[in-house]
Amino acid sequence: MKQSIHTIIIGAGAAGMMAAAVAGQRGAKVLLIDHAAKIGEKIRISGGGRCNFTNMALDGSDASPFFVSQNPRFVRPAMSAYTAQDFMHILRAHRVRYHEKHKGQLFCDDSAQNIIDVLRVECDKGHVQWRTSCSVTGVRMINDSLGMRFELDTSTAGTWRCANLIIATGGLSIPAIGASGFGYALAEQFKHTIVPTAPALVPLTFAEWSKNGWAELAGLSLPVRISTGEGKKIMSFDEDILFSHKGLTGPAVLQISSYWQANTSIALNIQSDAHLEQLLCDGKLGAKIQLDTALSQLLPNVPKRLLNHILTRPEFEKYAKHKWADVSDKVLRQLAQHFNHWTLMPSGTEGYKKAEVTRGGVSVKELHNGTMASKLCDGLYFVGEVVDVTGWLGGYNFQWAWSSGVAAGRAVSERL
Ligand SMILES: Cc1cc2nc3c(=O)[nH]c(=O)nc-3n(C[C@H](O)[C@H](O)[C@H](O)COP(=O)(O)OP(=O)(O)OC[C@H]3O[C@@H](n4cnc5c(N)ncnc54)[C@H](O)[C@@H]3O)c2cc1C
Repeated sequence: MKQSIHTIIIGAGAAGMMAAAVAGQRGAKVLLIDHAAKIGEKIRISGGGRCNFTNMALDGSDASPFFVSQNPRFVRPAMSAYTAQDFMHILRAHRVRYHEKHKGQLFCDDSAQNIIDVLRVECDKGHVQWRTSCSVTGVRMINDSLGMRFELDTSTAGTWRCANLIIATGGLSIPAIGASGFGYALAEQFKHTIVPTAPALVPLTFAEWSKNGWAELAGLSLPVRISTGEGKKIMSFDEDILFSHKGLTGPAVLQISSYWQANTSIALNIQSDAHLEQLLCDGKLGAKIQLDTALSQLLPNVPKRLLNHILTRPEFEKYAKHKWADVSDKVLRQLAQHFNHWTLMPSGTEGYKKAEVTRGGVSVKELHNGTMASKLCDGLYFVGEVVDVTGWLGGYNFQWAWSSGVAAGRAVSERL
């Protein structure tokens, strides 16, 4: 038997649950389908189990600088219609306690499960129906006398018809907890363009990392300015890097990974405040100490292990124990350049297994920015990570999920 309902949402993650709660509370009959047994798994594992659920910078002012997309300005209407402060308001109403950790990033005091529970209660308030462990096996366009536009076959819930279909199936990261390419395939079925996808907010890897001895620095962390790109397209972040056995990670690297393009380099400024070249060349006059001692005195904040490692590189090795005053300005300039503009060529990333998000996705050019509605197919909506919108590290991706979910939830309820 075929059942009909006003709105079906595929994907009970952050964006799907928010869209369902909003549409349901505004009177729409909503069915939320997820192929996973447990809902909101990414919320549960996010932010080290405490979910960095938003960022206070997303206060209704221009949000586009914090997002990567073919058109970052696409996010503006949805992000200003539903802000970080709006989401904090819901959490306060549910007595969820939270705190700011770093640069406006808000985390739960107790557990990410608090957020899942809030969304669940908000969905219940909207009388949302659920089907978990249920796969959608086919979607067709129809045009029946009740105004239904889509017919869906499911693995365990039979065939359903709906007037509005919201796709909230997320990206490709962490396939082990239910990520799938379903949303992209469905978008293509309805003639949408998919901006090529790639892992983002992901550690970077480097050829011969172990052979060159860098793996020995695993566990070492330090603040840097990291950058990639050229000219007007240069992008920089001031954050920490962390050496790992495979390459580099830490917030600075995760941030830059969303901008890094294959076969291009990244640059690290390990000592952004010091004019090291000048200090090294001017300070050597009359100095009696060795170059390695001078460097550790000039750069007290750079970990010794890293200093020693750089000084054992073939181009500097023979000078490390020389008297500082005897080392030529040319070598000192080269050394300074290494600290102020250390260029590295990543060979790749740790992939979707380790990526927090997927960049690329359903092209924003074919969606209405205030509602997330498809410009190509009446009644079809895309929300959350499946869209070509990728936020910075720091709560920006969840806020995009909430704001785009609210936009679509409101839009479908206006079609009652
Ligand atoms: C380890 C980790 C930590 C993170 N930490 C943070 C953080 O602290 N702050 C932040 O802002 N962002 C964080 N993110 C990113 C954030 O989790 C996502 O951007 C966000 O969850 C996207 O929401 P979404 O609803 O679009 O997709 P998801 O939350 O991924 O939900 C998609 C849902 O669709 C379901 N689904 C997929 N395919 C199908 C299908 N074929 N049929 C039915 N259902 C399907 C999935 O089971 C899932 O429930 C983190 C991500 C990871 C992986």
